[in-house]
Amino acid sequence: MRMYRALVLNKIDETFSVEISDLADDTLPEGDVTVEIEYSTLNYKDGLAITDSSPVVRMWPMVPGIDLAGTVSASENEAFSVGDRVAVNGWDFGEKRWGGLATRTRLPASTLTKLPDSISTRDAMAIGTAGYTSMLCVLALEDHSVTPESGPIAVTGASGGVGSIAISLLSGLGYEVHAVTGRVEEQGDYLRSLGASDLVERSSLSEPGRPFARATWGGAVDAAGGNILANLLSQTKPYGCIAACGLAASMDLPASVAPFILRGITLQGIDSVHMPSAKRDQAWNRLAADLDRDALSTMVTEIGLNEVVDMAAKFVDGTAKGRIVVNVNN
Ligand code: NDP
Repeated sequence: MRMYRALVLNKIDETFSVEISDLADDTLPEGDVTVEIEYSTLNYKDGLAITDSSPVVRMWPMVPGIDLAGTVSASENEAFSVGDRVAVNGWDFGEKRWGGLATRTRLPASTLTKLPDSISTRDAMAIGTAGYTSMLCVLALEDHSVTPESGPIAVTGASGGVGSIAISLLSGLGYEVHAVTGRVEEQGDYLRSLGASDLVERSSLSEPGRPFARATWGGAVDAAGGNILANLLSQTKPYGCIAACGLAASMDLPASVAPFILRGITLQGIDSVHMPSAKRDQAWNRLAADLDRDALSTMVTEIGLNEVVDMAAKFVDGTAKGRIVVNVNN
């Protein structure tokens, strides 16, 4: 029988294990499309799953990886043909369904996105859930009429995957981007090279602030939550919008209603995992059109399956930078 290779997480009697295994094809999950995976990636959530730091994984054993990109090798669904280049982002992969850190998978066609012609499978994973989420945030700002004339846009978690791509996208679209980072010294040059025109010390937003502060931001992309998000809300200009996608600082939101009722601020939540396909297609087409590939290449570190565990730990301790692409065949 044909074999494939996968990173496998398991938990037996509360003992967690992670190993690379060669598995027979009869272990592939249920689905009407088989994909030869070329690349996967690591996101913050993958870091939590692979280090067993948070209950991301909902069944054992689990192949982690919330993203994958590859080529269709068999299909019982007329929407997909052998040779189609496809990607998966979210849809509970790596949580409740076996994910992308493997060389082959089988999955339901409804979870697949066909890649635009100009996006390679490697680029798709350089973008990954982080980049696709950044684009969902940009679309949210646009939907709420935040334009480059609205004022500077704050991007938190700036050196991370979502932040890096959000900075590049927004600056390319003509926005003035201020990168909020805990690593001004270490990552300042990198963040400016992506298009940030100013750097903001994360600590200046981390403490509890006033419920209503000087109006500074046209909008924000927030990967942090907690006091940082509360302070951004209180500092956003009238009718601005904040796209909130992350909790790198905290799951709490110690905020007041003042910015909502006195400035008409919108707080737009972003859930990339279960986003309907039409919006996913819109986001991927906009990424194809708007994302600077040269900038993207400066964000990427490529690793093989055997380097995944060490890299996953960096997401948990907050020292990961940019985007990590996993060449699953390496
Ligand atoms: P990364 O680990 O790549 O980046 C997170 C960044 O946050 C770090 O690089 C760091 O940037 C900053 N950071 C680290 N610790 C803290 C802290 N204590 N307080 C404030 N900022 C901190 O993660 P991703 O970019 O992949 O994801 C970012 C967030 O978005 C995560 O919470 C993730 O779960 C969430 N997310 C949500 C999605 C959704 O669908 N809603 C989809 C994708 C991600 P710096 O050093 O520059 O400050």
